Amino acid sequence: MAKENTKYIFVVGGVISGVGKGITSSSIGLILKNRGLNVTAIKIDPYINVDAGTMNPTEHGEVFVLGDGDETDQDMGNYERFLDVNLTRTNYMTTGRVYQAVIEKERNLEYKGKCVQVVPHIPMEIVGRIKKAATDAKADVVMIEIGGTVGEYENILYLEAARMLKIENPHDVIFVMVSYLPTPSKVGEMKTKPTQHASRLLNGSGIQADILIARADTPLDEKRKEKLAMFCNIPMDRIISAPDVDSVYDIPLNFEKEKLSEKLCEIMGVACKKPDEKNWLAWKNFTKKVHKNKDTLKIAMIGKYFETGDFVLSDSYLSVIEAVKYSAYAQNKKPVISWLNSTDFEKSPVKLKELKNYDGIIVPGGFGSRGIEGIISVIKFARENKIPYFGLCYGMQLLVIEYSRNILGLKDANTAEVNPSSKNLVVDVMEDQKELLKKNVYGGSMRLGSYNAVLAKGSIAENSYGKKEIIERHRHRYEVNNFYVEELEKKGLVFSGKSPNGKLMEIAELPKKVHPFFLAVQFHPEFLARPLTPHPLFTAFIKACIKNK
Ligand code: GLN
Repeated sequence: MAKENTKYIFVVGGVISGVGKGITSSSIGLILKNRGLNVTAIKIDPYINVDAGTMNPTEHGEVFVLGDGDETDQDMGNYERFLDVNLTRTNYMTTGRVYQAVIEKERNLEYKGKCVQVVPHIPMEIVGRIKKAATDAKADVVMIEIGGTVGEYENILYLEAARMLKIENPHDVIFVMVSYLPTPSKVGEMKTKPTQHASRLLNGSGIQADILIARADTPLDEKRKEKLAMFCNIPMDRIISAPDVDSVYDIPLNFEKEKLSEKLCEIMGVACKKPDEKNWLAWKNFTKKVHKNKDTLKIAMIGKYFETGDFVLSDSYLSVIEAVKYSAYAQNKKPVISWLNSTDFEKSPVKLKELKNYDGIIVPGGFGSRGIEGIISVIKFARENKIPYFGLCYGMQLLVIEYSRNILGLKDANTAEVNPSSKNLVVDVMEDQKELLKKNVYGGSMRLGSYNAVLAKGSIAENSYGKKEIIERHRHRYEVNNFYVEELEKKGLVFSGKSPNGKLMEIAELPKKVHPFFLAVQFHPEFLARPLTPHPLFTAFIKACIKNK
Protein backbone atom coordinates (compact mmCIF):
# COMPACT_ATOMS: atom_id res chain seq x y z
CA MET A 1 0.00 0.00 0.00
CA ALA A 2 1.10 3.54 -0.75
CA LYS A 3 1.26 5.89 2.26
CA GLU A 4 -2.22 7.04 3.11
CA ASN A 5 -1.82 10.60 2.00
CA THR A 6 0.70 10.32 -0.75
CA LYS A 7 0.46 13.30 -3.04
CA TYR A 8 0.86 12.96 -6.78
CA ILE A 9 2.15 15.88 -8.82
CA PHE A 10 1.77 15.42 -12.56
CA VAL A 11 3.97 17.55 -14.76
CA VAL A 12 2.71 18.00 -18.31
CA GLY A 13 3.99 20.06 -21.22
CA GLY A 14 2.30 22.63 -23.38
CA VAL A 15 3.10 24.12 -26.81
CA ILE A 16 6.50 22.54 -27.50
CA SER A 17 8.53 19.61 -26.30
CA GLY A 18 11.94 20.11 -24.76
CA VAL A 19 10.53 22.95 -22.71
CA GLY A 20 12.13 21.74 -19.48
CA LYS A 21 9.62 19.39 -17.87
CA GLY A 22 12.40 17.14 -16.63
CA ILE A 23 14.30 19.93 -14.93
CA THR A 24 11.03 21.38 -13.62
CA SER A 25 10.05 18.02 -12.08
CA SER A 26 13.53 17.60 -10.61
CA SER A 27 13.55 21.14 -9.23
CA ILE A 28 10.08 20.86 -7.71
CA GLY A 29 11.17 17.55 -6.19
CA LEU A 30 14.21 19.21 -4.70
CA ILE A 31 12.38 22.16 -3.13
CA LEU A 32 9.77 19.81 -1.64
CA LYS A 33 12.45 17.46 -0.34
CA ASN A 34 13.99 20.49 1.28
CA ARG A 35 10.70 20.95 3.11
CA GLY A 36 11.11 17.59 4.78
CA LEU A 37 8.99 15.58 2.35
CA ASN A 38 10.07 12.21 1.01
CA VAL A 39 9.98 12.63 -2.77
CA THR A 40 10.26 10.13 -5.59
CA ALA A 41 9.91 10.70 -9.32
CA ILE A 42 8.53 8.83 -12.31
CA LYS A 43 9.24 9.44 -15.98
CA ILE A 44 6.68 8.41 -18.56
CA ASP A 45 7.90 8.10 -22.14
CA PRO A 46 4.93 7.63 -24.43
CA TYR A 47 6.67 5.57 -27.12
CA ILE A 48 6.41 1.87 -27.97
CA ASN A 49 10.01 0.97 -27.08
CA VAL A 50 10.00 -1.07 -23.90
CA ASP A 51 13.01 0.87 -22.67
CA ALA A 52 15.42 3.51 -23.97
CA GLY A 53 18.20 0.97 -24.53
CA THR A 54 17.33 0.30 -28.16
CA MET A 55 17.17 3.96 -29.14
CA ASN A 56 19.86 5.98 -30.84
CA PRO A 57 21.17 8.53 -28.33
CA THR A 58 21.75 11.14 -31.04
CA GLU A 59 18.01 11.08 -31.64
CA HIS A 60 16.69 10.59 -28.16
CA GLY A 61 19.48 11.71 -25.86
CA GLU A 62 21.51 9.70 -23.41
CA VAL A 63 20.48 6.25 -22.19
CA PHE A 64 20.62 6.54 -18.42
CA VAL A 65 21.26 3.25 -16.64
CA LEU A 66 19.77 2.68 -13.19
CA GLY A 67 21.31 0.59 -10.44
CA ASP A 68 18.94 -2.28 -11.23
CA GLY A 69 20.02 -2.19 -14.87
CA ASP A 70 17.00 -0.50 -16.40
CA GLU A 71 17.94 1.50 -19.49
CA THR A 72 16.02 4.73 -19.20
CA ASP A 73 15.61 8.30 -20.31
CA GLN A 74 18.11 11.02 -19.45
CA ASP A 75 15.53 12.73 -17.24
CA MET A 76 15.92 9.86 -14.79
CA GLY A 77 19.49 11.08 -14.42
CA ASN A 78 18.24 14.58 -13.67
CA TYR A 79 15.93 13.22 -10.97
CA GLU A 80 18.71 11.18 -9.38
CA ARG A 81 21.11 14.13 -9.45
CA PHE A 82 18.72 16.77 -8.15
CA LEU A 83 17.02 14.57 -5.56
CA ASP A 84 20.16 12.62 -4.67
CA VAL A 85 18.25 9.32 -4.69
CA ASN A 86 18.63 6.00 -6.48
CA LEU A 87 15.62 5.11 -8.59
CA THR A 88 14.52 1.74 -9.92
CA ARG A 89 12.65 0.40 -12.94
CA THR A 90 9.35 1.07 -11.17
CA ASN A 91 10.11 4.75 -11.69
CA TYR A 92 10.24 4.45 -15.45
CA MET A 93 7.36 3.74 -17.77
CA THR A 94 6.93 3.54 -21.53
CA THR A 95 3.85 2.71 -23.56
CA GLY A 96 5.58 -0.48 -24.73
CA ARG A 97 6.20 -1.51 -21.15
CA VAL A 98 2.62 -0.80 -20.07
CA TYR A 99 1.09 -2.73 -22.97
CA GLN A 100 3.54 -5.59 -22.51
CA ALA A 101 2.43 -5.94 -18.89
CA VAL A 102 -1.28 -5.80 -19.76
CA ILE A 103 -0.89 -8.39 -22.50
CA GLU A 104 1.08 -10.67 -20.21
CA LYS A 105 -1.63 -10.39 -17.55
CA GLU A 106 -4.27 -11.16 -20.15
CA ARG A 107 -2.36 -14.30 -21.22
CA ASN A 108 -2.13 -15.32 -17.56
CA LEU A 109 -5.90 -15.01 -17.14
CA GLU A 110 -5.44 -12.25 -14.58
CA TYR A 111 -8.42 -10.34 -15.98
CA LYS A 112 -10.57 -13.39 -15.19
CA GLY A 113 -12.35 -13.73 -18.51
CA LYS A 114 -13.13 -10.04 -18.98
CA CYS A 115 -12.76 -8.28 -22.30
CA VAL A 116 -9.50 -6.38 -21.91
CA GLN A 117 -9.78 -2.89 -23.34
CA VAL A 118 -7.50 0.05 -24.01
CA VAL A 119 -9.74 2.05 -21.67
CA PRO A 120 -9.91 1.40 -18.75
CA HIS A 121 -7.28 -1.33 -18.56
CA ILE A 122 -4.31 0.62 -19.89
CA PRO A 123 -4.88 3.65 -17.60
CA MET A 124 -5.52 1.24 -14.72
CA GLU A 125 -2.16 -0.40 -15.34
CA ILE A 126 -0.54 3.05 -15.42
CA VAL A 127 -2.19 4.03 -12.12
CA GLY A 128 -1.11 0.72 -10.58
CA ARG A 129 2.48 1.39 -11.56
CA ILE A 130 2.43 4.91 -10.17
CA LYS A 131 1.09 3.61 -6.86
CA LYS A 132 3.71 0.89 -6.76
CA ALA A 133 6.49 3.45 -7.17
CA ALA A 134 4.91 5.47 -4.33
CA THR A 135 4.77 2.41 -2.09
CA ASP A 136 8.30 1.22 -2.88
CA ALA A 137 9.72 4.64 -2.04
CA LYS A 138 7.37 5.25 0.93
CA ALA A 139 6.90 8.59 -0.75
CA ASP A 140 5.06 11.61 0.59
CA VAL A 141 5.16 13.09 -2.88
CA VAL A 142 5.49 11.45 -6.29
CA MET A 143 6.56 13.64 -9.20
CA ILE A 144 5.20 12.18 -12.46
CA GLU A 145 6.46 13.66 -15.69
CA ILE A 146 4.39 12.82 -18.75
CA GLY A 147 6.61 13.05 -21.84
CA GLY A 148 5.53 14.99 -24.93
CA THR A 149 2.95 17.76 -24.98
CA VAL A 150 -0.76 17.84 -24.21
CA GLY A 151 -2.92 17.15 -27.23
CA GLU A 152 -0.63 14.50 -28.70
CA TYR A 153 -2.24 11.13 -29.38
CA GLU A 154 0.68 9.48 -27.66
CA ASN A 155 0.07 10.77 -24.18
CA ILE A 156 -3.72 10.79 -24.03
CA LEU A 157 -3.90 7.51 -22.09
CA TYR A 158 -1.54 8.90 -19.48
CA LEU A 159 -3.66 12.00 -19.03
CA GLU A 160 -6.65 9.70 -18.68
CA ALA A 161 -4.81 7.72 -15.99
CA ALA A 162 -4.00 10.96 -14.16
CA ARG A 163 -7.62 12.06 -14.37
CA MET A 164 -8.80 8.69 -13.02
CA LEU A 165 -6.31 8.89 -10.15
CA LYS A 166 -7.64 12.34 -9.29
CA ILE A 167 -11.25 11.13 -9.30
CA GLU A 168 -10.22 8.44 -6.85
CA ASN A 169 -8.13 10.84 -4.70
CA PRO A 170 -9.53 14.33 -5.30
CA HIS A 171 -7.29 16.01 -2.73
CA ASP A 172 -4.08 14.19 -3.50
CA VAL A 173 -3.50 14.84 -7.19
CA ILE A 174 -2.30 18.11 -8.62
CA PHE A 175 -1.20 19.27 -12.04
CA VAL A 176 1.65 21.47 -13.14
CA MET A 177 1.74 22.58 -16.74
CA VAL A 178 5.08 23.66 -18.15
CA SER A 179 4.35 25.78 -21.16
CA TYR A 180 6.25 27.94 -23.59
CA LEU A 181 5.63 31.59 -24.41
CA PRO A 182 7.32 32.64 -27.63
CA THR A 183 8.47 36.16 -28.40
CA PRO A 184 8.58 36.26 -32.22
CA SER A 185 11.48 38.50 -33.20
CA LYS A 186 9.53 40.57 -35.70
CA VAL A 187 6.61 41.03 -33.28
CA GLY A 188 8.76 41.80 -30.28
CA GLU A 189 6.05 40.85 -27.81
CA MET A 190 5.65 37.75 -25.68
CA LYS A 191 2.64 35.74 -26.83
CA THR A 192 0.30 33.89 -24.47
CA LYS A 193 -2.12 32.45 -27.03
CA PRO A 194 -0.36 29.09 -27.63
CA THR A 195 -0.36 28.49 -23.87
CA GLN A 196 -4.05 29.39 -23.66
CA HIS A 197 -4.71 26.74 -26.32
CA ALA A 198 -2.60 24.19 -24.48
CA SER A 199 -4.54 24.88 -21.30
CA ARG A 200 -7.82 24.26 -23.14
CA LEU A 201 -6.48 21.05 -24.65
CA LEU A 202 -5.66 19.91 -21.14
CA ASN A 203 -9.18 20.87 -20.04
CA GLY A 204 -10.45 18.71 -22.90
CA SER A 205 -8.86 15.73 -21.15
CA GLY A 206 -10.78 16.61 -18.01
CA ILE A 207 -7.80 18.19 -16.30
CA GLN A 208 -7.22 21.68 -14.94
CA ALA A 209 -3.66 22.79 -14.22
CA ASP A 210 -3.11 24.07 -10.68
CA ILE A 211 0.22 25.69 -11.42
CA LEU A 212 1.59 27.10 -14.65
CA ILE A 213 5.32 27.26 -15.19
CA ALA A 214 5.75 29.88 -17.88
CA ARG A 215 8.92 29.16 -19.83
CA ALA A 216 10.16 31.99 -21.98
CA ASP A 217 13.30 33.87 -23.01
CA THR A 218 12.54 36.59 -20.48
CA PRO A 219 10.50 36.98 -17.25
CA LEU A 220 6.72 37.38 -17.50
CA ASP A 221 5.30 40.84 -17.02
CA GLU A 222 2.10 41.59 -15.08
CA LYS A 223 0.02 41.95 -18.21
CA ARG A 224 0.98 38.48 -19.44
CA LYS A 225 0.25 37.03 -16.02
CA GLU A 226 -3.19 38.63 -15.99
CA LYS A 227 -4.01 37.21 -19.41
CA LEU A 228 -2.82 33.73 -18.52
CA ALA A 229 -4.73 33.81 -15.23
CA MET A 230 -7.90 34.86 -17.00
CA PHE A 231 -7.74 32.40 -19.88
CA CYS A 232 -6.10 29.41 -18.23
CA ASN A 233 -8.22 29.47 -15.04
CA ILE A 234 -5.20 29.77 -12.77
CA PRO A 235 -4.84 32.38 -10.01
CA MET A 236 -2.12 34.90 -10.82
CA ASP A 237 0.08 33.91 -7.92
CA ARG A 238 0.18 30.35 -9.22
CA ILE A 239 1.68 31.39 -12.52
CA ILE A 240 5.41 31.04 -12.13
CA SER A 241 7.75 32.94 -14.38
CA ALA A 242 10.57 30.69 -15.58
CA PRO A 243 12.87 32.61 -17.93
CA ASP A 244 15.89 30.99 -19.58
CA VAL A 245 18.86 30.56 -17.27
CA ASP A 246 22.54 29.84 -17.81
CA SER A 247 22.55 26.92 -15.41
CA VAL A 248 19.74 24.47 -14.72
CA TYR A 249 20.90 24.30 -11.11
CA ASP A 250 19.58 27.84 -10.58
CA ILE A 251 16.02 26.75 -11.30
CA PRO A 252 15.17 25.44 -7.81
CA LEU A 253 16.45 28.74 -6.41
CA ASN A 254 14.36 30.73 -8.87
CA PHE A 255 11.30 28.65 -8.01
CA GLU A 256 11.78 29.43 -4.35
CA LYS A 257 12.07 33.14 -5.10
CA GLU A 258 8.47 32.73 -6.26
CA LYS A 259 7.67 30.73 -3.09
CA LEU A 260 6.73 27.70 -5.14
CA SER A 261 7.22 25.06 -2.43
CA GLU A 262 4.92 27.00 -0.11
CA LYS A 263 2.28 27.31 -2.81
CA LEU A 264 2.50 23.62 -3.67
CA CYS A 265 2.14 22.60 -0.04
CA GLU A 266 -0.88 24.85 0.22
CA ILE A 267 -2.53 23.28 -2.84
CA MET A 268 -1.69 19.77 -1.65
CA GLY A 269 -2.91 20.53 1.85
CA VAL A 270 0.39 19.45 3.35
CA ALA A 271 1.88 21.11 6.39
CA CYS A 272 5.22 22.21 5.07
CA LYS A 273 8.20 22.35 7.33
CA LYS A 274 10.65 25.23 7.29
CA PRO A 275 13.24 24.80 4.57
CA ASP A 276 16.27 22.79 5.61
CA GLU A 277 18.85 25.61 5.86
CA LYS A 278 21.90 23.40 5.75
CA ASN A 279 20.89 21.57 2.57
CA TRP A 280 19.72 24.72 0.92
CA LEU A 281 22.99 26.48 1.68
CA ALA A 282 24.95 23.57 0.22
CA TRP A 283 22.92 23.82 -2.99
CA LYS A 284 23.34 27.61 -3.08
CA ASN A 285 27.09 27.31 -2.62
CA PHE A 286 27.24 24.78 -5.41
CA THR A 287 25.36 27.09 -7.79
CA LYS A 288 27.67 29.96 -6.85
CA LYS A 289 30.62 27.87 -8.00
CA VAL A 290 28.87 27.25 -11.30
CA HIS A 291 28.95 30.96 -12.02
CA LYS A 292 32.00 32.16 -10.16
CA ASN A 293 34.77 30.06 -11.64
CA LYS A 294 36.54 31.86 -14.45
CA ASP A 295 39.65 29.71 -14.51
CA THR A 296 39.03 27.27 -17.37
CA LEU A 297 40.09 23.70 -18.01
CA LYS A 298 40.08 22.51 -21.60
CA ILE A 299 38.77 18.98 -21.98
CA ALA A 300 38.65 17.16 -25.32
CA MET A 301 35.88 14.62 -25.73
CA ILE A 302 36.58 12.22 -28.59
CA GLY A 303 33.84 10.37 -30.46
CA LYS A 304 32.26 9.60 -33.79
CA TYR A 305 30.43 12.85 -34.15
CA PHE A 306 29.35 14.26 -37.42
CA GLU A 307 26.06 15.43 -38.83
CA THR A 308 25.15 16.12 -35.22
CA GLY A 309 25.03 19.61 -33.80
CA ASP A 310 26.32 20.62 -30.37
CA PHE A 311 22.84 20.42 -28.93
CA VAL A 312 22.44 16.77 -29.74
CA LEU A 313 25.92 15.93 -28.55
CA SER A 314 25.50 17.49 -25.18
CA ASP A 315 22.28 15.53 -24.80
CA SER A 316 23.87 12.20 -25.75
CA TYR A 317 26.56 12.55 -23.11
CA LEU A 318 24.66 14.52 -20.51
CA SER A 319 25.82 12.55 -17.47
CA VAL A 320 29.47 12.65 -18.55
CA ILE A 321 29.31 16.42 -18.97
CA GLU A 322 27.63 16.92 -15.62
CA ALA A 323 30.12 14.60 -13.90
CA VAL A 324 33.01 16.65 -15.35
CA LYS A 325 31.36 19.86 -14.18
CA TYR A 326 30.77 18.69 -10.59
CA SER A 327 34.39 17.64 -10.15
CA ALA A 328 35.73 20.76 -11.86
CA TYR A 329 33.53 23.16 -9.89
CA ALA A 330 34.62 21.52 -6.66
CA GLN A 331 38.22 22.36 -7.68
CA ASN A 332 37.14 25.93 -8.53
CA LYS A 333 37.58 25.42 -12.25
CA LYS A 334 35.30 25.97 -15.19
CA PRO A 335 35.45 23.09 -17.68
CA VAL A 336 35.24 23.86 -21.38
CA ILE A 337 34.47 20.72 -23.34
CA SER A 338 35.38 20.42 -27.04
CA TRP A 339 33.88 17.67 -29.16
CA LEU A 340 36.52 16.24 -31.44
CA ASN A 341 35.49 13.95 -34.22
CA SER A 342 37.48 10.72 -34.17
CA THR A 343 37.28 10.24 -37.96
CA ASP A 344 39.19 13.54 -38.40
CA PHE A 345 42.23 11.90 -36.79
CA GLU A 346 41.98 9.03 -39.27
CA LYS A 347 41.92 11.38 -42.26
CA SER A 348 44.72 13.64 -41.06
CA PRO A 349 46.95 12.22 -38.32
CA VAL A 350 48.77 15.59 -38.09
CA LYS A 351 45.69 16.77 -36.22
CA LEU A 352 46.84 14.69 -33.27
CA LYS A 353 49.29 17.47 -32.40
CA GLU A 354 46.33 19.75 -31.64
CA LEU A 355 45.56 17.53 -28.66
CA LYS A 356 48.45 19.23 -26.86
CA ASN A 357 46.18 22.26 -26.52
CA TYR A 358 43.95 20.36 -24.12
CA ASP A 359 44.40 19.75 -20.41
CA GLY A 360 42.85 16.31 -20.61
CA ILE A 361 41.10 13.83 -22.90
CA ILE A 362 37.97 11.74 -22.35
CA VAL A 363 36.74 8.89 -24.54
CA PRO A 364 33.14 8.20 -23.49
CA GLY A 365 31.11 5.05 -24.08
CA GLY A 366 30.12 4.03 -27.58
CA PHE A 367 29.24 1.27 -29.99
CA GLY A 368 30.21 0.10 -33.47
CA SER A 369 33.27 0.51 -35.64
CA ARG A 370 33.10 3.97 -37.15
CA GLY A 371 35.93 6.25 -36.05
CA ILE A 372 37.52 3.58 -33.87
CA GLU A 373 41.00 3.76 -35.45
CA GLY A 374 40.96 7.52 -34.87
CA ILE A 375 40.20 7.02 -31.19
CA ILE A 376 42.97 4.44 -30.83
CA SER A 377 45.47 6.91 -32.33
CA VAL A 378 44.28 9.56 -29.85
CA ILE A 379 44.80 7.17 -26.93
CA LYS A 380 48.33 6.37 -28.15
CA PHE A 381 49.08 10.09 -28.43
CA ALA A 382 47.75 10.74 -24.92
CA ARG A 383 49.85 7.90 -23.53
CA GLU A 384 53.07 8.93 -25.28
CA ASN A 385 52.65 12.63 -24.56
CA LYS A 386 51.52 12.16 -20.98
CA ILE A 387 48.21 13.97 -21.45
CA PRO A 388 45.66 12.92 -18.79
CA TYR A 389 43.37 10.32 -20.33
CA PHE A 390 40.10 9.01 -18.90
CA GLY A 391 38.29 6.23 -20.78
CA LEU A 392 34.71 5.20 -20.08
CA CYS A 393 33.56 1.73 -21.10
CA TYR A 394 34.47 1.67 -24.81
CA GLY A 395 37.22 4.07 -23.76
CA MET A 396 38.72 1.26 -21.66
CA GLN A 397 38.33 -1.44 -24.31
CA LEU A 398 40.07 0.80 -26.86
CA LEU A 399 42.85 1.59 -24.38
CA VAL A 400 43.52 -2.13 -24.05
CA ILE A 401 43.59 -2.50 -27.84
CA GLU A 402 46.02 0.42 -28.15
CA TYR A 403 48.31 -1.04 -25.49
CA SER A 404 48.19 -4.51 -27.04
CA ARG A 405 49.06 -3.20 -30.49
CA ASN A 406 51.79 -0.77 -29.55
CA ILE A 407 53.36 -2.26 -26.42
CA LEU A 408 52.65 -5.98 -26.81
CA GLY A 409 53.25 -5.78 -30.55
CA LEU A 410 49.98 -7.53 -31.45
CA LYS A 411 49.42 -5.51 -34.60
CA ASP A 412 45.96 -6.91 -35.31
CA ALA A 413 44.68 -6.62 -31.74
CA ASN A 414 41.02 -5.68 -31.84
CA THR A 415 37.57 -6.08 -30.34
CA ALA A 416 35.09 -8.64 -31.66
CA GLU A 417 32.66 -5.75 -32.02
CA VAL A 418 34.82 -4.28 -34.82
CA ASN A 419 36.58 -7.28 -36.37
CA PRO A 420 35.48 -10.68 -35.09
CA SER A 421 37.99 -12.45 -37.34
CA SER A 422 41.03 -10.72 -35.88
CA LYS A 423 43.52 -13.28 -34.49
CA ASN A 424 44.07 -11.27 -31.33
CA LEU A 425 40.69 -10.44 -29.87
CA VAL A 426 41.99 -8.67 -26.77
CA VAL A 427 38.42 -7.50 -26.25
CA ASP A 428 35.87 -10.22 -26.86
CA VAL A 429 32.17 -10.73 -26.55
CA MET A 430 31.20 -11.84 -23.05
CA GLU A 431 30.50 -15.56 -22.78
CA ASP A 432 26.85 -15.22 -21.78
CA GLN A 433 26.24 -12.69 -24.56
CA LYS A 434 27.11 -15.10 -27.37
CA GLU A 435 23.81 -17.00 -27.31
CA LEU A 436 21.81 -13.78 -27.03
CA LEU A 437 23.46 -12.30 -30.09
CA LYS A 438 22.88 -15.46 -32.10
CA LYS A 439 19.17 -15.17 -31.34
CA ASN A 440 19.09 -11.39 -32.00
CA VAL A 441 18.04 -10.72 -28.42
CA TYR A 442 19.24 -7.12 -28.12
CA GLY A 443 16.74 -5.33 -25.86
CA GLY A 444 17.79 -5.05 -22.22
CA SER A 445 20.27 -7.89 -22.64
CA MET A 446 23.70 -6.30 -22.09
CA ARG A 447 25.54 -6.61 -18.80
CA LEU A 448 23.54 -3.89 -17.11
CA GLY A 449 23.42 -2.09 -13.79
CA SER A 450 25.35 -2.32 -10.54
CA TYR A 451 28.19 -4.77 -9.99
CA ASN A 452 30.95 -4.80 -7.42
CA ALA A 453 34.63 -4.45 -8.15
CA VAL A 454 37.66 -4.94 -5.93
CA LEU A 455 40.48 -2.40 -6.19
CA ALA A 456 44.22 -3.08 -6.20
CA LYS A 457 46.21 -1.82 -3.24
CA GLY A 458 48.09 1.40 -3.86
CA SER A 459 46.53 1.97 -7.29
CA ILE A 460 45.29 5.36 -8.51
CA ALA A 461 41.80 3.86 -8.42
CA GLU A 462 42.05 2.81 -4.78
CA ASN A 463 43.60 6.13 -3.77
CA SER A 464 40.86 8.07 -5.54
CA TYR A 465 37.95 6.14 -4.05
CA GLY A 466 39.64 5.79 -0.67
CA LYS A 467 38.23 2.28 -0.30
CA LYS A 468 38.84 -1.28 -1.44
CA GLU A 469 35.49 -2.25 -2.90
CA ILE A 470 33.17 -0.24 -5.09
CA ILE A 471 29.80 -0.61 -6.79
CA GLU A 472 29.37 0.93 -10.22
CA ARG A 473 26.80 0.80 -13.03
CA HIS A 474 27.50 -1.01 -16.28
CA ARG A 475 26.27 -1.27 -19.85
CA HIS A 476 28.34 -3.45 -22.15
CA ARG A 477 28.47 -6.69 -24.15
CA TYR A 478 32.21 -6.99 -24.60
CA GLU A 479 35.01 -7.34 -22.07
CA VAL A 480 38.79 -7.56 -21.85
CA ASN A 481 39.83 -11.05 -22.90
CA ASN A 482 41.40 -12.81 -19.89
CA PHE A 483 43.78 -14.70 -22.15
CA TYR A 484 45.83 -11.49 -22.58
CA VAL A 485 45.65 -10.12 -19.05
CA GLU A 486 48.87 -11.66 -17.75
CA GLU A 487 50.83 -10.48 -20.76
CA LEU A 488 49.38 -6.96 -20.52
CA GLU A 489 50.21 -6.81 -16.82
CA LYS A 490 53.75 -8.02 -17.44
CA LYS A 491 54.17 -5.15 -19.86
CA GLY A 492 53.12 -2.57 -17.31
CA LEU A 493 49.34 -2.15 -17.62
CA VAL A 494 47.72 -2.45 -14.20
CA PHE A 495 44.24 -3.91 -13.91
CA SER A 496 43.47 -2.06 -10.73
CA GLY A 497 39.81 -3.02 -10.56
CA LYS A 498 38.45 -6.52 -11.04
CA SER A 499 35.17 -8.28 -10.37
CA PRO A 500 35.24 -10.00 -6.94
CA ASN A 501 35.98 -13.38 -8.59
CA GLY A 502 38.90 -11.77 -10.40
CA LYS A 503 37.62 -12.74 -13.83
CA LEU A 504 36.34 -9.48 -15.23
CA MET A 505 38.60 -6.46 -15.75
CA GLU A 506 36.88 -3.34 -14.47
CA ILE A 507 39.68 -0.73 -14.38
CA ALA A 508 42.95 -0.39 -16.27
CA GLU A 509 45.62 2.18 -15.43
CA LEU A 510 49.29 3.02 -15.79
CA PRO A 511 51.24 3.69 -12.60
CA LYS A 512 51.73 7.35 -11.69
CA LYS A 513 55.46 7.19 -12.22
CA VAL A 514 54.89 6.22 -15.87
CA HIS A 515 52.02 8.57 -16.72
CA PRO A 516 50.27 11.32 -14.73
CA PHE A 517 46.78 9.87 -15.40
CA PHE A 518 46.07 7.11 -17.87
CA LEU A 519 43.05 5.31 -16.51
CA ALA A 520 39.94 3.76 -17.95
CA VAL A 521 36.95 1.91 -16.58
CA GLN A 522 34.63 -0.76 -17.93
CA PHE A 523 31.68 0.82 -16.10
CA HIS A 524 29.98 4.22 -16.28
CA PRO A 525 31.02 6.29 -13.27
CA GLU A 526 29.15 9.28 -14.71
CA PHE A 527 25.84 7.77 -13.57
CA LEU A 528 26.81 8.12 -9.93
CA ALA A 529 28.15 11.68 -9.97
CA ARG A 530 25.95 14.08 -8.02
CA PRO A 531 26.17 17.87 -7.71
CA LEU A 532 27.14 17.86 -4.05
CA THR A 533 29.13 14.62 -4.17
CA PRO A 534 31.31 14.59 -7.30
CA HIS A 535 32.58 11.21 -8.48
CA PRO A 536 36.07 10.37 -7.12
CA LEU A 537 37.46 9.19 -10.47
CA PHE A 538 36.29 12.30 -12.31
CA THR A 539 37.83 14.34 -9.52
CA ALA A 540 41.14 12.47 -9.84
CA PHE A 541 41.08 13.09 -13.60
CA ILE A 542 40.29 16.80 -13.14
CA LYS A 543 43.10 17.16 -10.61
CA ALA A 544 45.49 15.58 -13.13
CA CYS A 545 44.23 18.02 -15.78
CA ILE A 546 44.92 20.94 -13.45
CA LYS A 547 48.47 19.72 -12.90
CA ASN A 548 48.95 19.29 -16.63
CA LYS A 549 47.74 22.80 -17.40
N1 GLN B 1 30.47 -1.29 -27.26
C1 GLN B 1 31.09 -1.72 -26.05
C2 GLN B 1 30.39 -2.93 -25.46
O1 GLN B 1 29.26 -3.20 -25.78
C3 GLN B 1 31.14 -0.59 -25.05
C4 GLN B 1 29.82 -0.19 -24.56
C5 GLN B 1 29.80 1.18 -23.92
O2 GLN B 1 30.71 1.97 -24.11
N2 GLN B 1 28.76 1.48 -23.18
O3 GLN B 1 30.95 -3.63 -24.68
